Amino acid sequence: MLLGRLAKSVISMKSKGEKQSADTQIQPGERDRTIAETLCAWFEKSARDLPWRKKHRDPYEVWLSEVMLQQTRVDTVIPYFEKFLKRFPNAQSLASASLDEVLHLWSGLGYYRRARELHAAAGEVVKRYGGTLPAEALELRTLPGIGPYTAGAIASMAFGKVEPLVDGNVSRVLARLFGVEDDIRGSVGSKKIWAIAARLVPKDKPGQFNEALMELGATVCTPKDPHCLLCPARHLCTAFEKGKQRDLPVVGEKAGVPTVSMVSLVLWHGSDVLLMRRREGGLFGGMWEPPMIEAASLEEGLVGFRKLGIALGHQKPDEMGQVRHVLTHRELVVNVASGRAGERFEMRGLTNEPYERASWSCPGTLEGGVSKLARKVLEAAKARGIAI
Ligand code: SF4
Repeated sequence: MLLGRLAKSVISMKSKGEKQSADTQIQPGERDRTIAETLCAWFEKSARDLPWRKKHRDPYEVWLSEVMLQQTRVDTVIPYFEKFLKRFPNAQSLASASLDEVLHLWSGLGYYRRARELHAAAGEVVKRYGGTLPAEALELRTLPGIGPYTAGAIASMAFGKVEPLVDGNVSRVLARLFGVEDDIRGSVGSKKIWAIAARLVPKDKPGQFNEALMELGATVCTPKDPHCLLCPARHLCTAFEKGKQRDLPVVGEKAGVPTVSMVSLVLWHGSDVLLMRRREGGLFGGMWEPPMIEAASLEEGLVGFRKLGIALGHQKPDEMGQVRHVLTHRELVVNVASGRAGERFEMRGLTNEPYERASWSCPGTLEGGVSKLARKVLEAAKARGIAI
């Protein structure tokens, strides 16, 4: 009896003295459901009005917007999305266009591989599915450029399939909500995040929930200073409860990117510039640019240009300064040179080189894609008085 009374008083002291956490008050399954419902309700009220957010989501538009949004800000994407959709309203029109035209419309958006794969995938969609995207994530993933994230987005948002998705925003939100302390770039952390994402997707609103997670990450649960006081899920958030919002997610250091030295030649004749089209498949594949090669100095570059068959004339080109361009895995430092061509010669024999075609053109009127790096190079020459 005495032991029983003691045990009861210990239990009652514990329940009075300890503040129970949000984690323990709500059972795991119930907490998942509450998170999903809370975020869906918040999204219905607070979602930004974006051109691809229509009541009935078109799979092609979901696909296009998700591909464009990879590594790219919403504000940058909107005009490209509208222009692209006007010219290519469906997979058929995209598949039947030339890659040059697709890259031309994509020019400036960066990561041109996305455009090449989108074009190739549109061809596959027409050939294999008669122009309509398949609904299943696994089947979507057989198309060029469609990975687990894009497949999950199309399947859930356009077809209502119960599929998860994880991108940078979603990883951050879930790591904070669930207090995941593993590196989200590592395989253990990434697996945990995907497992949580899969567990949370509600059967009735999979697309809306996925979009709500991404929206929360983009607008409220931001990387540096999350706006927790505006967050609809703060009463459910482990990081908020523990004051760890700024410590999570844990993101492992990226290895430093190597620097690559290059030389680019802006060779002009009259009002035309020599532009060359990169062979498809490699870096900037299919894009037009002033010839550009890896070289430590202008002299080394000039030797390389001669090997490419570029007739430089007698005068040494003038140095126009340097431009820098950061890619995911390397930083390009390009020394720009410019000179007048002795004649408007024809390029021949480009079979084994990074380029497959050449043209004397006015860059503004070229029917093809021009990369941001190529624009920077042309701007550097213009800034030094070259009238192109
Ligand atoms: Fe992110 Fe703060 Fe909301 Fe937690 S409470 S999900 S840290 S914004």
